Amino acid sequence: RRSIVLAERPAGHPTEDNFRLEKGPVPEPGEGEVLARILWLSLDPYMRGRMDAAKSYAAPVELGAVMEGGCVGQVLASNDPRYAQGDYVTGQFGWTSHGVLKGDALRKLDPAKAPLQYALGALGMPGLTAWVGINRILEAKTGETVVISAATGAVGSLAGQLAREKGCRVIGVAGGPKKCAHAESELGYDVCLDHHAAADGQAMADRIAEAAPGGVDCYFENVGGKTLDGVLPNMNVGGRIALCGVIAWYSGANLDDATPLPKVWRTILVNRLRVQGFIIFDHFDQFPHFVDEVAPMLADGRLRYREDVTEGLENAPKAFLSMLEGGNFGKTLVKVAD
Ligand code: NDP
Repeated sequence: RRSIVLAERPAGHPTEDNFRLEKGPVPEPGEGEVLARILWLSLDPYMRGRMDAAKSYAAPVELGAVMEGGCVGQVLASNDPRYAQGDYVTGQFGWTSHGVLKGDALRKLDPAKAPLQYALGALGMPGLTAWVGINRILEAKTGETVVISAATGAVGSLAGQLAREKGCRVIGVAGGPKKCAHAESELGYDVCLDHHAAADGQAMADRIAEAAPGGVDCYFENVGGKTLDGVLPNMNVGGRIALCGVIAWYSGANLDDATPLPKVWRTILVNRLRVQGFIIFDHFDQFPHFVDEVAPMLADGRLRYREDVTEGLENAPKAFLSMLEGGNFGKTLVKVAD
């Protein structure tokens, strides 16, 4: 068994030294447990939070413990009658080649329905986040203008397309001309703005004002930083912000140049904005509604979905660090085994 453990907590931006590859025996499944060999590992921004000891909505990964992560695996041995050898399952096995979990913590996958690894992306946690954000938090309506940051990422790419399907005008913000071109030509954004091309929040605000002359009704917030600075002054009265993530600030960088809180607070008041933070764990009861709606749209091509695959568990730290900096183009995955 090979696993990537948390070797030390990062100070600011994480580095490869924060991780360590460990080898050991394949674990035995206990009572009610299932042993799986891991095929796919999902890399997600929330893992940056788990590396810190700070209090958050979930407990940190302990030093020396296997990094947390969602996986797709194939059952090797099972002490739960609901799972048999050879079944495909998804669960939080972590950054590892072999893992053991209780049957209750698993969901069985049907490889005939969709590619297995979709369970970690478009038909899994990130997809549900996009769906809940657009439908339950923003309550985006036909004709409204919606801004999506990290517009081509795992969450953003789906959020943007779901808003488009609702008949919204959809403005993306992404890093670089390649991502922006993809957003407009493949994902159906009306326009996508490159945040690297905007020097500061004011420049971002000017570009958003140009793209949304009628103002912004809904903002799907994934990044914070100068993108948020640019969106805020463009929000319409009665606008909504789904506060999903603030990746620009996860490692404590770029904090000083953010819009001062009094100005943010006053904008919320004057424009009667509804700003709602949400953590997807609270919304898993929506999973069946989400799959019923999104799976057919993926199958018939209405929704496009792009993956960024790294081969080999040992390369997971590098791929994770790159994703935090925008190096990924689509849902970040590690192919652990065939
Ligand atoms: P992505 O696939 O979108 O990858 C992260 C992207 O963030 C990068 O590709 C990059 O895109 C963008 N980014 C990184 N740094 C910056 C920066 N300084 N300024 C602007 N953009 C930046 O990841 P996910 O789709 O998995 O996650 C997107 C967001 O959603 C994250 O904030 C994540 O924490 C959050 N999330 C929240 C959940 C919840 O329950 N609330 C659940 C799942 C995700 P680009 O190159 O385009 O800038």
